[in-house]
Amino acid sequence: MAESSDPQRLLRKFQKCNEFFVGIDSDGCAFDTMEVKHKECFIPNIIRYYNLAAVSRYAREAAEFINLYSQWRGINRFPALIMSFDLLIERPEVLRRHHPLPALTELRRWVERETKLSNPTLKAEVEATGNADLVQALEWSEAVNRTIGEVVHHVPPFSFVRESLESMQGRADVMVVSATPGEALDREWQEHGLKPFVGLIAGQELGCKREHLALGAVGRYEPHKILMVGDAPGDLQAAESNGILFYPIDPGFEDESWQRFFEEGLPKFLSENYAGAYMTAQIARFQQLLPDTPPWQGR
Ligand SMILES: [Mg+2]
Repeated sequence: MAESSDPQRLLRKFQKCNEFFVGIDSDGCAFDTMEVKHKECFIPNIIRYYNLAAVSRYAREAAEFINLYSQWRGINRFPALIMSFDLLIERPEVLRRHHPLPALTELRRWVERETKLSNPTLKAEVEATGNADLVQALEWSEAVNRTIGEVVHHVPPFSFVRESLESMQGRADVMVVSATPGEALDREWQEHGLKPFVGLIAGQELGCKREHLALGAVGRYEPHKILMVGDAPGDLQAAESNGILFYPIDPGFEDESWQRFFEEGLPKFLSENYAGAYMTAQIARFQQLLPDTPPWQGR
């Protein structure tokens, strides 16, 4: 492959200026965008495109649990949609209403066989098959993107994000590590004047988060001098699979998490005292906030 057609060269060429490396996720981690995207964009369109007015309260609870407040926080929208319906179908309150719910048979098959779950790949599948399940999912997903474009503007970074970035200057190299399209990331980090603090903004075009860290940092910095900051279990997995450190931004407690990072976590990391008991306690607290059983099923 010619180098010019290889977007990941940007990761391989990431310039090392400092001894330490910090990767930072964007959605729901640096910026408070997860709540507004799910509550105002994803979920209202699920109710609308799947005709769920009769069970809207339960549909909302299921989708919020899967996407925001469970161990599945941050997963791709299509498997998340299926899981939300699976939770909905099990609820006695929903069964009692005898409201028809879709089986999503073809969508399930597509999610199983497709490795790149996105609107363009789904659109190609719709054009090839004309399947009604897939048409409905695509209409919903495209509506979600339109609503995000209309609704999600000028969402600021959490407090202590800027302070943390400032105090990393000259100490750690910073990369945005995200599964969001690069163009949206660039706009958000630019809009809030945070772009000068980061060496590279790595979005979905440069691969997955695990690859961003593997190509940009692993092998170039000592493992205990590489830190990933994230708000979802997928971010933790990306760090663990690369054998590097992780600092969690706790869902619902983001400001507190960033303040703790600024005051404790970052100084510990830069003095090589982060790994071990302190990191273990951070991750344990984070994981407790993200259960695998919804609150209405009891514990
Ligand atoms: Mg995130």
